[in-house]
Amino acid sequence: MDFPSFEEGLTGYYIGIYIIVFLFGITIGSFLNVCIYRLPVGESLTKKNSHCMTCGTPIKWYDLVPVFSWLFLRGKCRSCGEKISGRYILVESLTGILFVLTFLRFDVIADGLWYPALLCLFIAGLIVIGFEDYDTQEMTVGVLVYLAVIAALTRILTTLLPTAVRGCDITVTDGLIGMFAVSVPFLIFGFVLTPLIYSFIISDDCKSARKIKKRLKKMSETDKERPKLQKELDKHLAAIEKTGPVYGFGMGDVILMAAGGLMLGWKAAVVAAFAAIVLGALYAAVLKIKAAHSDCESVKAFAFGPFLTVGLAFASFFGTHLMDLYIDFLTVPAVPPM
Ligand SMILES: [Zn+2]
Repeated sequence: MDFPSFEEGLTGYYIGIYIIVFLFGITIGSFLNVCIYRLPVGESLTKKNSHCMTCGTPIKWYDLVPVFSWLFLRGKCRSCGEKISGRYILVESLTGILFVLTFLRFDVIADGLWYPALLCLFIAGLIVIGFEDYDTQEMTVGVLVYLAVIAALTRILTTLLPTAVRGCDITVTDGLIGMFAVSVPFLIFGFVLTPLIYSFIISDDCKSARKIKKRLKKMSETDKERPKLQKELDKHLAAIEKTGPVYGFGMGDVILMAAGGLMLGWKAAVVAAFAAIVLGALYAAVLKIKAAHSDCESVKAFAFGPFLTVGLAFASFFGTHLMDLYIDFLTVPAVPPM
């Protein structure tokens, strides 16, 4: 009888781990689907069984197996035959794939289980935030807190138990700088620069209102034109009120990038922000071209969170490495003397 060689055994061991991680990932993904649908409307995560969105029939356990049930039923409800959203299988398989990628990037034998597991928990939160923001243009506070807690826990564990939590060379300093490296520029751009640019350059109502206020100040109290100007000013002020404050980012984006920076370090946070801005700009361009070719209205504001989460997920695998390559590229070697 032939025993498998050490290499064959090792390969089998790794393949086994990847299969387990994938199955575990799609199961978590199934729970993430519930979070994505229920958290924004404030529904409980534990109460109520799953039921068909169309006919309301409770779904049997054997039709709730992540990914496989959807494939087996070909995306249709067993009782009414109505289509089941492809979102379910998308979120489930995406979670499974990202979990496997995490375990491909970090070696279980060399790096241990801790860091890849913590990163998987973080990525699960990113998936929920990304889809939530895409659907509702809002992020649930609870999920942002969850991400911040995982990030803080990871930094504490990598510092206190460096022999157990290996594979991550991000120091506390890297994490703390990362917390502010992107979130503070986002805060300044979103909540200071954007309102200023909007008020002084973009909004006609803001510009007109300022001009009228200036004229009213110079006018005497008895001027005949005063009531007419006042009326015009009220009209502009009402329009400004109706638009509401204009910010470049949401507070959720800022908190997300602070948690991301703490978890992945400043290099990865910068790479994540850069990737998000490039993807967001491409998306805006596509929207603009689409709008130009159809009758629908021009580009409206869209959620930036999904791009940030894609950026952070990408950066959690390659961010630090890419930034190091970039820094090497910028550092010109000294020219040897002639
Ligand atoms: Zn149904």
